Amino acid sequence: MTVPAFSSKLQKPLTTYGVNCLQVNLGKLCNQACKHCHVDAGPKRTEIMDRETVQHIIAAAEMVRPELVDLTGGAPEMNPHFRELVEALRDLGVPRIMDRCNLTILLEPGFDWVANFLAKHRIEVTASLPFYVGEHVDRQRGKGVFSRSIEGLRILNGLGYGDSLPLNLVYNPQGAYLPPDQDDLEQLYKRHLAEEYGIRFNELYTITNMPIARFKTYLERSENYTRYMNKLVSRFNPGTLDGLMCRSLISVGYDGRLYDCDFNQMLDMTIDAEQPHISQLRDIMLTGRPIRTDDHCYGCTAGHGSSCGGALDTEDEAIAV
Ligand code: SF4
Ligand code: SF4
Repeated sequence: MTVPAFSSKLQKPLTTYGVNCLQVNLGKLCNQACKHCHVDAGPKRTEIMDRETVQHIIAAAEMVRPELVDLTGGAPEMNPHFRELVEALRDLGVPRIMDRCNLTILLEPGFDWVANFLAKHRIEVTASLPFYVGEHVDRQRGKGVFSRSIEGLRILNGLGYGDSLPLNLVYNPQGAYLPPDQDDLEQLYKRHLAEEYGIRFNELYTITNMPIARFKTYLERSENYTRYMNKLVSRFNPGTLDGLMCRSLISVGYDGRLYDCDFNQMLDMTIDAEQPHISQLRDIMLTGRPIRTDDHCYGCTAGHGSSCGGALDTEDEAIAV
């Protein structure tokens, strides 16, 4: 089966509703190098957001007044301007600031300030923990990552995360299959992590592995690419289209370029051919702008759907077309 164009599944082209979320990629530098990383991040990457671009982000937040600023990477905390940015966003009164934390960064030498800083500024923590069984996590994220992640979670729990401060975990499948039901899996995670390790968290987000970057290479090498794409296409769920994150988000790359989402960013698909920069945000159409889609968008629209905030359609799955 050849993959039908994603656009052929749409009754009309996708357009934006506005900007509720400003998503900022602070760079590709990370203390880990996970097998499924769609950013291809790692310890040897040198691409990080500079101070001038950080200043443009602050100005953009003041102009757009997003409900949420979502800080991602790599490991966002490894950007030397991370603290300055968070403090400026707090001063602006941004209602929600989220740090996509990989947990192990909390234990890295030189980063022992991170957990207290996040708690002090009441930053939401969204942390990847691709499963509650150690060997599965280590297989995907590297040897010893699970036990260090548990240690990171204990530090966060000790500061009030999972109680008075929001701590959400992210699950993604280990291989070429879609995530299970988000609510059911959350219950399993909660029970297991509480009983085995005394860990508390708020919500679990299930995220589909996107067929791009490192995961695409893995699919091709394991001869699973076609099977995986066929699965995504056959599970296309139109009920996810309204809630797609690209409809209410603008994503900023480490160099300030603008994208419809993090995935388009990794594919170098800027919001238009002019490759606009965050400093030009004033001239960009924020509402009603056409969204650039391609085959990878099946990853967001298959089954219960997928976004940075987990499943999109938690009702019984709509009939695929
Ligand atoms: S921790 Fe996150 S950003 Fe870093 S390599 Fe793993 S998936 Fe990529
Ligand atoms: S990958 Fe997902 S979020 Fe990005 S443009 Fe496609 S549907 Fe929207």
